[in-house]
Amino acid sequence: MGRYYHGTISGKFVCAVQSSYDPSLFKDPELYEIPNEYYLYYVCKCLLENDNNLFCNQCYTNYEDHYDNIDESDKQDINNRINENKNSDDTKLLAYPSGYIKYQFDTSDLNYLEQKLNQIEAEIGYDIINNLDFTIKEEDNDEFEYNLDDNNSYDNNSYDNNSYDNNSYDNNSSELTPDKEVLIASWCIGKQIKKAIEVVGNCEIFCEL
Ligand SMILES: [Zn+2]
Repeated sequence: MGRYYHGTISGKFVCAVQSSYDPSLFKDPELYEIPNEYYLYYVCKCLLENDNNLFCNQCYTNYEDHYDNIDESDKQDINNRINENKNSDDTKLLAYPSGYIKYQFDTSDLNYLEQKLNQIEAEIGYDIINNLDFTIKEEDNDEFEYNLDDNNSYDNNSYDNNSYDNNSYDNNSSELTPDKEVLIASWCIGKQIKKAIEVVGNCEIFCEL
């Protein structure tokens, strides 16, 4: 099990280290709010853009038309929701939580993103950064994926299972501490976003929660 992200870039969040909300780090907090989990309409799976649209008006002419096309088991879920919360119109919504949040970056985000990457690199330490063998490749499905090989002098297994013995690290700036592991995970996705913006002008990411 793991949490994945896809869109203009794709990959897997680093287990137990990296939040699904990690791309927020590269959005100016004064301009953007942290996104909410988005909803999809039953049957057609269109993205719910506006909570006031109880049915998908792209695909159906009216509420009954959409409702009639929904599987019996999903209808049951909707009816249970309506019965539990009779006074709220939201419960009639013909949509369900997707399990994903969505980010959208474009060239207007580059400035902040580059500042943030510089800041993260300074925190990680250039000794470590320079020993990371990091590459980004555009795959056949047009998604940018990264590959990270670590040439730093620590046990590579610890990167995956997060089982650090804190005592084994001294204060040497080139040691990879758990804090730095978190920063490296963020740095990788930041670099991916930057690459996507530079090559295609924007970066849309769907992050599994
Ligand atoms: Zn639809």
